[in-house]
Amino acid sequence: MRLLLVLLATALSTSAQTSAFGVKAAPGAPKGVTNVVEEEVDNSVVISTFREAPSPATKLSRTFQLSKLNKVGFTETTKELQRLFAAFAAQRIVDGSPAGSSKATGHVTAVNYALLQDLGDNRFLAKAAWPAADSNEILAAGVDTMAILLLDKPAKVGDTGKLTSMHVGTVSLLFTANYSPLVGKRLTLRREAFIECATLEDSPAALQKFVESVNAGEELSVLTYEQATCKKCTGLGFTREPQKGQLDKRIDCVDCAKTGKLSVACETKFVP
Ligand SMILES: [Zn+2]
Repeated sequence: MRLLLVLLATALSTSAQTSAFGVKAAPGAPKGVTNVVEEEVDNSVVISTFREAPSPATKLSRTFQLSKLNKVGFTETTKELQRLFAAFAAQRIVDGSPAGSSKATGHVTAVNYALLQDLGDNRFLAKAAWPAADSNEILAAGVDTMAILLLDKPAKVGDTGKLTSMHVGTVSLLFTANYSPLVGKRLTLRREAFIECATLEDSPAALQKFVESVNAGEELSVLTYEQATCKKCTGLGFTREPQKGQLDKRIDCVDCAKTGKLSVACETKFVP
């Protein structure tokens, strides 16, 4: 991932006064220059990190031992391995690293978009939609929401599509709008930013390679959201409040929205 971000930074630092996602804006161009040409309109685009992509608070930690696979009395089944590997593959970014992929530093999601304004260097302001992450603290859903996209290839305003992307947090965008009704307005927007990416393939061959890597000693883990019993209502979906001379009053459990279950972030480490 570091390599990918370095590549982004070098690719994007070519235009003055801009910075890549995840990189703090460098000090601006010399101020004196603007005094010489007073009439010059400032159309520079400045993108800086406003809030890093949040990472989930892991509540459960467990191991998946490959040597116990399909042995009686153990939870390590082929089906479970395939399920965990599918999640693992979706959380890995294919890049130029020696292993061929690295852990995504943000939530990977599908984004539907319509490009609204070209910000240069394959960066766009877009009307976008994406589903909520398993945990809302990571990323809430976007519905016809303005977002900043960094695409792999050039595109043009008006293009629509769907891309696999990694959420890289909220950025602060300073730019001059050229879409109605804000044409010519110099604005600062804070928006979620996404980088187009490719994830690891979920295939039997990739799973085989993964198993070999774990057996060779590579430390790999995956984050999933697992259903756990709600502690407050002990899985009933409600709590009881004693009433004098009457039956207990049932109070709906708000912690689990009456379901009796909670979604808990769980890290599974793979061991030989
Ligand atoms: Zn509950």
